[in-house]
Amino acid sequence: MIALIRSDLLRARTPRLFFVLAMALCLAPFVSRAQDTTHAVRIGLTYQPGTKPGVIVLAVRGAWGDSLQGLIARDLDYGDRVEVIGLPGTPAASSLEGIGPGVSYPLWKSLNAAAAVQATVTSSGVHVAVHDVTGRKIVQVADFPLPPTGGSAEWRLAVHGVSDEVEQWITGTRGVAQTRILFVRGGRLNIANTQHRSDPQPVEAGCACECCSTYSRAYLAHLFHAKELLYYRLATAHNLEHYLNLARRARAAIAGGAFPTTPW
Ligand SMILES: [Zn+2]
Repeated sequence: MIALIRSDLLRARTPRLFFVLAMALCLAPFVSRAQDTTHAVRIGLTYQPGTKPGVIVLAVRGAWGDSLQGLIARDLDYGDRVEVIGLPGTPAASSLEGIGPGVSYPLWKSLNAAAAVQATVTSSGVHVAVHDVTGRKIVQVADFPLPPTGGSAEWRLAVHGVSDEVEQWITGTRGVAQTRILFVRGGRLNIANTQHRSDPQPVEAGCACECCSTYSRAYLAHLFHAKELLYYRLATAHNLEHYLNLARRARAAIAGGAFPTTPW
């Protein structure tokens, strides 16, 4: 009898147990990223409080170096907490051509830069150093692993994470470049991509969240490019709903004895 009761209890608890495990798996990347911030402390750059510090993102040599530099510079620019000096593709960039990854504190100072971001491609990813221009020293360094598939969606997502971390080093607040990624069933989309500016579809067809039931990808892209805070609220609402749905499907598959043999 006791064995039967225990067996029933176990059966009753199993879906909940698997639900918790599934949620833990879903959230694992976020938790590990949150825990991986021991080095991400305010580094005490010397710049006027209340102003946007000027930041130079140095040229990056090596495979996908141009993309790395461009992504980090644009992510910092989108974040709107720093003033990116010589954003690639702008006229000001030509004045920075030839600077390369070398150290030149007097030049950076003359360009009103408070910080310089120096990225170096490594065999496993990228090594990033942030220079305090006024203090004439490196104030933060870290190595970030990147997927070997340079230029892929995964690689770009990882680089956005690097940008967000660098923004935290410089401003004390983590960047939001990765929030431009919206998760959809079987993949993800980057709202910053040009094709979404005129896309009337919802982020994810069939999703019942406030974002998908009311707004199009085009409207979200407009909010994102206009740096409207509403974008982040809607994107968060959708991504949370996506993960809750993922867990619901996993729970249903477990209850139906089809976990994980059928796609859910
Ligand atoms: Zn949605």
